[in-house]
Amino acid sequence: MRKPGAIYLLGVPVHRVTMAGTVDLVCGYMAGSRVHQIATVNPEFVMKAQEDAHFKQVLQRADLCIPDGVGLLYAARRYGQRLPERVPGSELVYHLAEAAAGHGWRLFLLGAQPGVAGEAAKKLCQRYPGLQIAGTYAGSPDPAEDEAIVARINASRAGLLYVAYGAPRQDKWIARNRDRLETVRVAIGVGGALDFIAGKAVRAPVWLRRLNLEWLYRLVREPWRWRRMLALPRFAWRILWTPYSPAAEERQR
Ligand code: UDP
Repeated sequence: MRKPGAIYLLGVPVHRVTMAGTVDLVCGYMAGSRVHQIATVNPEFVMKAQEDAHFKQVLQRADLCIPDGVGLLYAARRYGQRLPERVPGSELVYHLAEAAAGHGWRLFLLGAQPGVAGEAAKKLCQRYPGLQIAGTYAGSPDPAEDEAIVARINASRAGLLYVAYGAPRQDKWIARNRDRLETVRVAIGVGGALDFIAGKAVRAPVWLRRLNLEWLYRLVREPWRWRRMLALPRFAWRILWTPYSPAAEERQR
């Protein structure tokens, strides 16, 4: 299968994919023989990666970095490039659960607060009859727990894995454990998506999402995020003043 092209924003790859294209790619990955890592990149990821070289490397080595975050689309445009559309991780988790129900992929939900993954699994099964949940487990992103968690996932014979530990922990978890996962073919860091599915957190109304103001809704509901959200203006500033350098980015591939 052909890997989609990427644009590099401050050294972080973002692939030129649509939602439908992402689902197609995952279908291909699921038929493969190794684990594929997917990251849901937004401007906060890009800014974290500026201070965390390991995180940047994890993103550069991921099989697919989807453009979750409208800021990335604006940044691409600033460089005369184009990302076709926003692919929110919080929506991808539904599309892939539907595909899992159709194809018989076994889904494992890892992370979030105790009880949340189980509740999310219940909601997904109601929505997609026939969906096979291989397992749910809150666990912890602490590396000391890795071995026990990997054993649990391997025993469940899961094919598709959602990891909800927030970035960068979830993406680092997948990167350091992917080679030990025996049946998983696709592992995705899904951030707060299990909270949304379980109904513990509420997404912005559709009209606000259409105005690309989902971030503002989140800020009003969860004001303690303001410090983290400073990443947005910092990202815009850096993109404005950093020239696009395709040659340098080519070397990073
Ligand atoms: N989380 C967790 N263990 C941790 C840290 C976070 O299970 O040690 C979960 C948290 O409960 C939430 C998810 O990680 O379900 C994503 O957290 P956050 O909202 O910070 O991430 P974002 O969606 O902003 O990337």
